[in-house]
Amino acid sequence: MTFVMGVMDLQARFPFSVTSWWRTAKHNAGLADSVKDSQHLVGTAADVVFDPGAEPDPGLFKAAARELGLEVERESDHTHLELFTTMY
Ligand SMILES: [Zn+2]
Repeated sequence: MTFVMGVMDLQARFPFSVTSWWRTAKHNAGLADSVKDSQHLVGTAADVVFDPGAEPDPGLFKAAARELGLEVERESDHTHLELFTTMY
């Protein structure tokens, strides 16, 4: 729930589309760069792409995501969002 609300909130501020969300283990295993314990397997990760020319400043986007409990990882052709899990 935290994850979905976070993505909703971010999407209202930044122009992105979700290209991948919940995956089966089989589908995940067949993807390049996928990790075995991916949060995509439990629905707490999503890959997004920004509208052409509308990519936000990476630091700004990261800070906005963090405020909502989400972690951002820039990957080859998309941006990966997942629930922030590191406790400190
Ligand atoms: Zn991803």
